[in-house]
Amino acid sequence: MKNQELITLTASEAAEKLAAGEITSVELTQAHLDRIAATEGTPISEEDRSQGKTGLNAFLNVSGEEALETARQVDADRAAGKDLPPMAGVPIAVKDLIVTKGQPTTAASRMLEGWMSPYDGTVVQKIREARLPILGKTNLDEFAMGSSTEHSAFGVTRNPWDLDRIPGGSGGGSAAAVTAFQAPLALGTDTGGSIRQPAAVTGSVGVKPTYGSVSRYGVIAMASSLDQVGPVSRSVRDSAVLHEIIGGYDPMDSTSINEPVGAYVEAADQGAAPGGLQGLKVGVVKELTGEGFQAGVTRRFEESVELLRAAGAEVVEVSTPNLQHALGAYYLIMASEVSSNLAKYDGVRFGLREMPKDGPVTIERVMSATRAAGFGPEAKRRIILGTYALSAGYYDAYYGSAQRVRTLIQRDFTNAFAEVDVLMSPTSPTTAFKLGSKTEDPLEMYLNDIATIPVNLAGIPSISLPGGLADEDGLPVGIQFMAPAKEDARLYRAGAGLEAALKEKWGGALLDQLPDTESLIAARTEGSAK
Ligand code: GLN
Repeated sequence: MKNQELITLTASEAAEKLAAGEITSVELTQAHLDRIAATEGTPISEEDRSQGKTGLNAFLNVSGEEALETARQVDADRAAGKDLPPMAGVPIAVKDLIVTKGQPTTAASRMLEGWMSPYDGTVVQKIREARLPILGKTNLDEFAMGSSTEHSAFGVTRNPWDLDRIPGGSGGGSAAAVTAFQAPLALGTDTGGSIRQPAAVTGSVGVKPTYGSVSRYGVIAMASSLDQVGPVSRSVRDSAVLHEIIGGYDPMDSTSINEPVGAYVEAADQGAAPGGLQGLKVGVVKELTGEGFQAGVTRRFEESVELLRAAGAEVVEVSTPNLQHALGAYYLIMASEVSSNLAKYDGVRFGLREMPKDGPVTIERVMSATRAAGFGPEAKRRIILGTYALSAGYYDAYYGSAQRVRTLIQRDFTNAFAEVDVLMSPTSPTTAFKLGSKTEDPLEMYLNDIATIPVNLAGIPSISLPGGLADEDGLPVGIQFMAPAKEDARLYRAGAGLEAALKEKWGGALLDQLPDTESLIAARTEGSAK
């Protein structure tokens, strides 16, 4: 098979061809490594990594040799007739917030530049056991804080649809890599939308599983009561496949749910089959539609609602009034937990150590110099906000009230799910915005998370899948489904059903319309040289 054909296979298709002996894992892995080499671009400055690269810059580290070695072993075992796990030999990219042995883990921060973890996170271990070659580590906003990947210390990742636009965040690297065919699968993390919003603005699929259903052991903590690892892919089924690989109980994570992994692939296949959505009760969240949402987003969303109806689903409107307070509660709870989780980067235990420029060398002064040099402006902003919110005298007014709002939001969801099987909304109020357009005003950036954040506050699962291109700018629109805790399977049924209906309507997949990335990069590089 030609490289172009190999990289455009979904993970499920690739696995089938590997099992049938039509392709080898070495070929498949090499095709993706070639694609990465052709689309990442070159470093803009060798000295200053914060400048990023001329191309996508989706990867902070590419581990080609390691990936090929895994691929060779899989091919050899297959040739020897050994039993292999179903996805063996299909390559994957890992968000650089998840620790990996043998290659650096940076969280896109100067604080951890070059840091090597002595162990693998549980999800990475599971991926190794499932025999997926790891292509490398993907770019993100520093410590997963942001909605645009512009807060990475190592340069922004570019959106494959338009290189002057954001790929979403914090997991812009994973989403861009999957969209641009650099990898068929990726891992992301979602604290307030970092898997789903990047998926939405790049036209890929992303899932935030039920809180506690995928291990967080070895995932650098942002806000521990909200963080969750999940899959990124180009089809709903592929996310289900990856979810089954990474899910399950882990004694190393104290919040891990001790229950078997759900039958997600089966649910996806059921949803995509004819009549698969018959009788599904869907609630459109009134507070997450209409005002404040871009016209083209609303139009594509309404179209999806119609398709669901036509496929036999029953769609009603539901109201969850407390969602209007979600953003405020999130930015207090998240920042409070960030201030506590990031306290360990003190220049003593690991990572960067910066000595004071002048004056006495005391432990406090080393810590202060290290934190001043190691953290970027967004991390500092949130540490300061969180420290303030948790300080004696303010604790109850801020953190306490936010926790009470969180309970109200959870109740709203419980009430809504008494009426319907799944809830639905656009994933993001807008399509991908221009690079640099929201960095001046952090509040503007935070508003982009309005539809994804309530899910994290409630601990429930949610999926985003592409719903088409907005008429006004031709950029991808994301459709979000939400389900009750531990009912992740419903997301796959609803998601795969809608995906099948959309595919029929378009006569193909959305990414068939993706512009040629190499030409976009060439045009951009030539343009700036003039
Ligand atoms: N964009 C959100 C934030 O900035 C979500 C981040 C995340 O999910 N990691 O906090």
